[in-house]
Parts: sequence; C-alpha cells; structure tokens
Amino acid sequence: MTNKLKYFIGNWKMFGDFSSFKIIYKINQYIYKEKNFNKKKIVLCVPNTLIHFFQKKLKSKLISLGAQNCHYHETYGPFTGSVSASMLKKIGAEYIILGHSENRLEGETNQIKKKKIISALNQKLHVIFCIGETYKEKSKGKTFSILRKQIKSSLNKKFIKNKIILAYEPVWSIGTNKIPKKSVLQNTIKFIKKDFRKIFKTNKSPKVLYGGSVNHQSIGLLSSISEIDGFLIGSASQSAKKFIDIVKNYYK
Ligand code: PEP
Repeated sequence: MTNKLKYFIGNWKMFGDFSSFKIIYKINQYIYKEKNFNKKKIVLCVPNTLIHFFQKKLKSKLISLGAQNCHYHETYGPFTGSVSASMLKKIGAEYIILGHSENRLEGETNQIKKKKIISALNQKLHVIFCIGETYKEKSKGKTFSILRKQIKSSLNKKFIKNKIILAYEPVWSIGTNKIPKKSVLQNTIKFIKKDFRKIFKTNKSPKVLYGGSVNHQSIGLLSSISEIDGFLIGSASQSAKKFIDIVKNYYK
C-alpha cells in the first residue's frame, strides 16, 4: 500500500434530489468509523441544485462537495440558464469537474474548456480536468496525440499550480464496464505525467486520476497501478454501498 493521498471523486451527473443526502450521510458515517482515513480524499460532485443544501446539512469536513461544470464567464452575466464558478464557490463547492466528455459531445471546445478552467482557478476551486480518447481514436493509435492536444490546448502554464487534477477517462470506458488493460493504462498515466512536465517545463507531475467503469470489481486491478492518484467514479458513486465498496476494496 502506498502512502500518497488518493482521491475518490464521485460524479453524480444529472441524478439526485434532497433525499439523496442519505447517500452522503452513509459515506460520511463509514469514513468516520474508519481509522487512518487521512490518506484518502473523498469528494462528491453533485448537481448544482444540491450543493448548498448538502453543504448546510453536512456538518463534517470529511467529505468535500464539488460541481460538474460551469459557464466560462467567471462571475455574473447575461447567460441564460448558466451558473458561474463564483456562484458555485459561494454556495459551497470546493471542487469542479471540467471538460467531461459528455460536455464535449454537446459542443464544448478546448478553447471553452480553457476559459472555464481559468475562471474556476481564479475562484480558487480545485479543477478536475477530464481528458480521454474515443474508441475510434484509440483504434487508430491516436491516444497519446489526442491527450497531448487536450492538455496543450486547454491548460496554460500560468495557471498550473496545485489546484489542477487531471482525470484520464477513456470515452469508450465510461459506463461500459470496460477498462483498459493494466499495462496500457499504466503507460498512459505515465505518458500524461511526463508529457505534462515536458509541455509546461516543470519538474512537478500533476495528480492523475483514472475514470471509466470504476466499481468494486475493477478497483482490484486499478489499485495495483501505483501511478494512479485516485479515481473519478460515475454511476457507482450514486449508491453509498457501491461507493464504499470501492474505497474498501482499494485497500486490498
Ligand atoms: C464518468 O462519467 O465520469 C464516469 C467515470 O462514469 P462511470 O464510472 O459510470 O463509467
């Protein structure tokens, strides 16, 4: 077992209502009972409609709350239906997922992602920036060049400090129960860290999470890859039992 901090970040997507607080409550109870939990960071990125409510109810500091997207404009503006990073910060978000492939499918470009990242970092939110190739890109052997492009065109040296966490999420792995082969995943995570250092001329590696069909079964193999700094968990994070099982099985 490693001594490095590992992230377990839930992405609830467009699910949940006030009654879903019971999920957070159960996860919190579990963490509370566990000893030595200081090497694991639990973050739940929930719908914007729930952040403030959960934040008020959640008296413990063991779980942080996050959002899943924001508008690129940092504060207020004539953007119907949108929410800015400053608004999210004010209601209790500490983290934010940006660049998720589901948003890319809706037309979000690398330029828009870049603006969103800058807004969120200005607001002192921890950014979880998602990158990953589609199945078609993988089949054509383009994984590394796609990842490089996503990193280069959405990040900016000036803004790369501790608050950026990368999440490698192969698009073909999200919600499909398929995960990359161990050696391939290991090499890809190593590539992301190395390329990041090269692009931004830094000797500091970013934290890189893995996301895509993480569950109580796949976590066994994923745990054995020491280069992974944590996990972005979609559907399994919408159930307290499934989420806790992932965290528990990580120890094994
Ligand atoms: C996600 O959408 O970020 C994700 C990782 O989903 P899932 O865990 O359901 O594959």
